[in-house]
Amino acid sequence: MSALMQTYNRFPFEIVQGEGVYLTDNFGKQYLDFTSGIGVCNLGYNHPQLNAAVNTQLGKIWHTSNLYQSSLQEKVAEKLIGNAQKQVFFCNSGTEANEAAIKLARKFTGKSKLLSFHHSFHGRSIGALSVTGNDAIKHGFGELLADIEFAPYNDDAALTQINDQFAAVILEVIQGEGGVTAANANWLQRLAQQCRAAGVLLIIDEVQTGIGRTGKLFAYQHYAIEPDIITLAKGLANGLPSGAMIANSKIAAAFDYGAHGSTFGGNPLAMAAAATVLELMDAALLKNVQQKANGFYQLLEDQLSDCAAVEAISGKGLMLGIRLIESVPVKNVVEKLHQQGLLTLSARGNTLRLLPPLVISEIQLQQGLHLIKQVLSDAVAK
Ligand SMILES: *Cc1c(COP(=O)(O)O)cnc(C)c1O
Repeated sequence: MSALMQTYNRFPFEIVQGEGVYLTDNFGKQYLDFTSGIGVCNLGYNHPQLNAAVNTQLGKIWHTSNLYQSSLQEKVAEKLIGNAQKQVFFCNSGTEANEAAIKLARKFTGKSKLLSFHHSFHGRSIGALSVTGNDAIKHGFGELLADIEFAPYNDDAALTQINDQFAAVILEVIQGEGGVTAANANWLQRLAQQCRAAGVLLIIDEVQTGIGRTGKLFAYQHYAIEPDIITLAKGLANGLPSGAMIANSKIAAAFDYGAHGSTFGGNPLAMAAAATVLELMDAALLKNVQQKANGFYQLLEDQLSDCAAVEAISGKGLMLGIRLIESVPVKNVVEKLHQQGLLTLSARGNTLRLLPPLVISEIQLQQGLHLIKQVLSDAVAK
């Protein structure tokens, strides 16, 4: 019997080594990676500059408390906000970032109502779970937060639900776990206007979509909207635990001394990694992601449009979904692809989810697609 709590239904192999976009398991089998550790290792594995930055910091200091100045945190925060009048709070995960956002929105507005969306995912703590639109993972934990309402995503009904009684609206501009569903731009812009008009804060959860995943530093930048609060985690430190909440300075001021905190938040090792991630995530890299992603999306449509197993293709940048017909369960496809040496993910709605490292080459994307096409064709041939 495992000594671990059985909260994960794990595949029967262990990843023991990574290099670039390739991973090796404990049996010596090599895989092309289309997961990035669920959108985390955006710059791949064993990246020389990231390794060097963390190694250097490792020899200086691993941890110090937030009682003292932190030039590393300042550096990462400045890279995140650019020239904007914003401030950053560091934590250790997406859940914590969203938890902080809920607290800040409530403290700043003095209201407690929050609007979230069906099929959203914002984390597993009581607060973050309360605004998660997935009933299947919410049972058995007693009473969750009161004052939470849900609206249908990409649906005008959501617009009529927003009024000045709400502290904030929280949403992902591309729902990840919920099935890789991108927001309709016109809908999202009207929603943002509605929030502004009603004095309701707009919290954008960029935990999965952020840090270059869609070819912009933040996915909301595709939509010409201005969030009040942004939450980040996954790709921020390329695999060292790190999360962040960014808010406009006026709102951030509601978090005065002692209002919130974290022992490990902004840890020096994580910040050394994050500073290097953000240095590497320059305009050239982002443009390259957009180019590769545009070509790959076209290729997905060309190659899979006549595949009977495929219902729809969705997503943006290198965050992509292939929705499969019911008779081809995504779990079987993921396992078949393991055998073929490709790691992929699933999402709600029988969706095969692809989150390759952003440093992947066009050839490697094509190689992965070739395997996906083969497995999907075989699945409907029988
Ligand atoms: C993964 C994820 C979270 C939760 O992040 P953790 O680091 O697992 O706590 C929150 N929101 C979104 C959109 C995510 O994809």
